[in-house]
Amino acid sequence: MATIVLDPSGALCVPDTPTIPFIEGDGTGRDIWRAAQPVFDAAVRLAYRGTRRIEWLEVLAGEKAFAQTGDWLPQATLDAISTYRVAIKGPLTTPVGGGIRSLNVALRKLLDLYVCLRPVRWFEGVPSPVKCPQDVNMVIFRENTEDIYTGIEFQDGTPERDRFLGLLKEHFPAEFAKIRFPATAGISIKPVSREGTERLVRAAITYALKHKRRSVTLVHKGNIMKYTEGAFRTWGYEVAEREFADKVYTWQQWEHTKKERGEAAANAEQQAALAAGKLLIKDVIADICFQQTLTRAREFDVLATMNLNGDYLSDALAAQVGGIGIAPGANINYMTGHAIFEATHGTAPKYADKDVVNPGSVILSGVMMFEYLGWQEAADLIVRGLERTIADKIVTYDFARLMEGAREVKCSEFGRHVIERMA
Ligand code: NAP
Repeated sequence: MATIVLDPSGALCVPDTPTIPFIEGDGTGRDIWRAAQPVFDAAVRLAYRGTRRIEWLEVLAGEKAFAQTGDWLPQATLDAISTYRVAIKGPLTTPVGGGIRSLNVALRKLLDLYVCLRPVRWFEGVPSPVKCPQDVNMVIFRENTEDIYTGIEFQDGTPERDRFLGLLKEHFPAEFAKIRFPATAGISIKPVSREGTERLVRAAITYALKHKRRSVTLVHKGNIMKYTEGAFRTWGYEVAEREFADKVYTWQQWEHTKKERGEAAANAEQQAALAAGKLLIKDVIADICFQQTLTRAREFDVLATMNLNGDYLSDALAAQVGGIGIAPGANINYMTGHAIFEATHGTAPKYADKDVVNPGSVILSGVMMFEYLGWQEAADLIVRGLERTIADKIVTYDFARLMEGAREVKCSEFGRHVIERMA
């Protein structure tokens, strides 16, 4: 069993036969994994002619884990992902309004996977609700460990909530007075730190520079939440200017030059910086970001967002390029190397074991995984197979119902067509 390790510089060292733990997932997770794994193996075989191979290791989580071990997220699963560093998973069930907490959130927290990475691009032929889906080519870096998602919540009608509000009233009466209906209010807390922001923005800028992207946009609602969302913007610019001074040009610099020497000088400075290949760091308020990514998609490239904004934005953008059936994702800690690649949709239980859903999301998550491992050739083969399959109008039900003249195939058949079209 070969393990992926980090070298002293922090780079991943990937053996030729790495062990990769996989979680099949609940519901349709079973269908999409059955279709996707042969695609991954075929791509590696074709790209490396037997010199490289993935050694798959099934680990349990969710319903299958509970049925076999009585535990929703067994320690053995966490240990395996921690040891082997890189894993891939299907969707897991989370009950609404009670029961177990999200296993996905638990995995992210336990391994401190602070980046939720969601590339959003269009594949020719995929049905889209927008006029120019080809303009959408963005990569979202969503902060994964802070914000309102930390789960510090006080439920209405509990002694904990009363005690918390009592403390607020005693120590911060002016803040307490802002609560419109204190007798029945539930309370959530939104922590956002400098360290949490810096590591997220650092990862986004590093990625943008490595992949020669044009800009990184900091998305925030800092006009309203000044000390959380506003601080995210401030700290984001600071880390850009401090750690990447010779590689980036920021809107803060533009503002500064404008103040000192006028707008024309600021514009000329920005033009010169971009002509010299510098990466533009800018920011946008979250609500206008939703409009502009729809109406002026070309102006956006890499997006760095906080947790909640990123959650909404990544699904909204995925809709522009074909929806959740084909939206991949990953949760990554770039410092430890730990990464879990995943289908971003849920378990779609009504379709479970019917072999009908679109396996595109988990297949593209595999593409992201191969890119992360540095196995670009395998990643490229899968993308080629997928592009050709869709161009031939061979699709699963979700696309077929929106396309003229499509040939609807089963989930597993779609995977086989991708393999046939790789070479
Ligand atoms: P969902 O499972 O994503 O399904 C919602 C709808 O999305 C489906 O009815 C289907 O639409 C479409 N869809 C989902 N997967 C698809 C695929 N592979 N191919 C084509 N279409 C697909 O959302 P949900 O019903 O809200 O959630 C069900 C369970 O999944 C919940 O327990 C939830 O907590 C969990 N969940 C897990 C994750 C995760 O593990 N990462 C993420 C989200 C939700 P049509 O009916 O229109 O065809």
